[in-house]
Amino acid sequence: MECFYCKGKLEDKLTNFTVDLGTSVIIVKGVPSQVCMQCGEVSYSDEVAQKLEKIVEKMKEVMTEIAVVQYEDALKVA
Ligand SMILES: [Zn+2]
Repeated sequence: MECFYCKGKLEDKLTNFTVDLGTSVIIVKGVPSQVCMQCGEVSYSDEVAQKLEKIVEKMKEVMTEIAVVQYEDALKVA
């Protein structure tokens, strides 16, 4: 696989996914992703992107100002 933007090489890596909702911030740690070794662009597989969406929806219900969750733990409740 190559980078959508620069055609650089993609590397499988665990990254942190951050969503800024304006009044609150959700951080999901340890998300399986592909990172471009050239430009640093982070992308997710469709499966992971869908799961992240679910996690974010779930977190919104219990939101305080900042929520930090581990991806693997969040999957169990999402
Ligand atoms: Zn790139």
